[in-house]
Amino acid sequence: MDKKIKKQRFYSIMIVPHESRGRPFSFKLPASWVYTAVGLTCFGILVVGSSIVYSTLISRRLADYADTISKNRQQQAVISSYSVKTEKVARQIDELVKKDNELRQLLGLKGWELKEVRTTVATGEKVNYLLEKAEAKLAQKRQSHAELLEWVAVVRARYAATPSSWPIYGRLVSFFGYRRTPWRGMHTGVDIQAGYGAPVRATAPGVVIYTGWRLGYGKTVEINHGHGVSTLYAHNSNYAVKLGQSVRKGQIICYVGTTGWSTGPHCHYEVRRNGVPRNPVAFLNLNMLTASRLWRE
Ligand SMILES: [Zn+2]
Repeated sequence: MDKKIKKQRFYSIMIVPHESRGRPFSFKLPASWVYTAVGLTCFGILVVGSSIVYSTLISRRLADYADTISKNRQQQAVISSYSVKTEKVARQIDELVKKDNELRQLLGLKGWELKEVRTTVATGEKVNYLLEKAEAKLAQKRQSHAELLEWVAVVRARYAATPSSWPIYGRLVSFFGYRRTPWRGMHTGVDIQAGYGAPVRATAPGVVIYTGWRLGYGKTVEINHGHGVSTLYAHNSNYAVKLGQSVRKGQIICYVGTTGWSTGPHCHYEVRRNGVPRNPVAFLNLNMLTASRLWRE
């Protein structure tokens, strides 16, 4: 019995009043109660503390989440605005292709067909898909543009070599082709009436390949313009250039006369392509585009 009492331990809590009149008040508590109370308090502190920490974390995460959602919405808005803009760009490219073809048609060139554009992006990703398509179309457009530039360069070079002006302005008194008078047979050029001694001008830049007398032609000048094209000026009274001389377009090369088989002062003008006389009328007053058509014959 003694043993049992010894084992049971107690703690006393004493409350002492500050005034001398009051009596101190104490009560006794078993040790196990005190331990339980301390334990419960510690547990309580732990629970409350951890819940505060946890709720702080959760609220922070919720704020992050809300932020992400609003950002997402903004991005969606941006993406859909991109989509609208991309579609606009795609339409403008199509318009450009149309205009390009119109220009080609005007120039007498083959129309340019936009090749089927394949993209690696799924149609679901609309913006990406449209952008890839637009990029491919633009690449084709660039190529077409380069072709056009190349064509213009060719046309310019041809035009430069094409006898495109009049050697002298005057009435055409005899045309190219078969004739009965004054000399029966093939007339290989045109006759332009002009005053005696009037200057005759080169109709394209080139090199003088002949100056001298020719049967029927009288005093003749012939110019090679390259690309297989040459011009001939006959019945002249005098020369203004020498053999082998380079001449500009419009440069005076000789003077109107009536040498050779001629009934009066005029310029007999011939255009030859690969040595074959062509109707010079087709070459008179050419511009860059009409000249390029002649070359396609
Ligand atoms: Zn003639």
